Amino acid sequence: MKQKQLDDTHNRNINYLRVSITDRCNLKCIYCTPDGDIPKLDHGDILRYEEIHRIIRIAAELGVSKIRVTGGEPLVRKGVIGFIHSIKTLSKIKEVSLTTNGIFLSEHLESLQDASVRRLNISLDSLKPDRFRKITGFDGFDRVWSAIEQALALHFSPIKINVVALRGINDDELADFARLTLEYPFHIRFIEHMPIGNSSLIWNHPMLTPEIKDRIASTGNLVPIPTSPLDGPAQRFRIEGAPGEIGFISPLSNHFCNTCNRLRLTASGSLKPCLLSNFSEDLKTPLRSGGTDEALAEIILRAVAGKPSGHSLSRGGGAPMNMQMSSIGG
Ligand code: SAM
Repeated sequence: MKQKQLDDTHNRNINYLRVSITDRCNLKCIYCTPDGDIPKLDHGDILRYEEIHRIIRIAAELGVSKIRVTGGEPLVRKGVIGFIHSIKTLSKIKEVSLTTNGIFLSEHLESLQDASVRRLNISLDSLKPDRFRKITGFDGFDRVWSAIEQALALHFSPIKINVVALRGINDDELADFARLTLEYPFHIRFIEHMPIGNSSLIWNHPMLTPEIKDRIASTGNLVPIPTSPLDGPAQRFRIEGAPGEIGFISPLSNHFCNTCNRLRLTASGSLKPCLLSNFSEDLKTPLRSGGTDEALAEIILRAVAGKPSGHSLSRGGGAPMNMQMSSIGG
């Protein structure tokens, strides 16, 4: 296949593919899922690992070098470690990372290490076991915290802890999260709550980064960390002298669309060039009807060409999204 770089029409080089391998999740976070049962994809509608591997291989030929495996909850899908191993065999893929809620992480840490995964993102919205249960619907704080400690002992790095800032729910703990960086080399990433899909938590008056910064101001002076072009969207800081970092991901208050380098593949084979837009390209149908590598590459290029210059969310209201975050992968 002819090598083409995934440059879009807004001078962005797209080198990062986030892959949701399942829409299933073992938690029901209030800001991510609606009350009641969410319709699940039929097994046959979820891409098989060989199909995902093929898409990644073709995307890698086009210039993708970073893969994040996400979900739903990626560690609930059987065979995930073997799949990660298989991606690692692609010479053009330089980095593979995992986003998980941490519930099943302990038992997978050593095999993740064997698969040379070094980078972990673990979602944790409360340091209080009772509150963790209220947010996620599962009494699992101790398991997650223990997995984080084990990951540290096994020298995973960076260990990023994703905290969605939720007014009236965990906003009294933001400083406690920031203080963790004084003791541990964690990267705490505060994320603005985005209005995506249906959730049992009504999206209203979200906490924006300036307010989050105010809430953690008592923990110390935040010193900016110079960013490199390969960094993600977080604005990075360190409390003076701290081993860890604090990052702010501000899709609402300070969107990073002009440097967005991502594509997202959903569990059902849609390729989304923008998290906050309903536009997607279908890869599953051509994959399952004899599409050639060239035809699939053209679709990936088309998704990149259609990547919007920016998303249309404003602080006052959000574009209704027709997909759940659990099927896109965050
Ligand atoms: N199950 C995995 C996990 O919990 O990390 C991966 C999937 S989850 C959808 C990925 C990330 O999206 C999590 O860090 C979660 O907190 C974040 N997320 C989900 N819904 C969100 C929303 N409405 N606004 C901001 N972040 C959200």
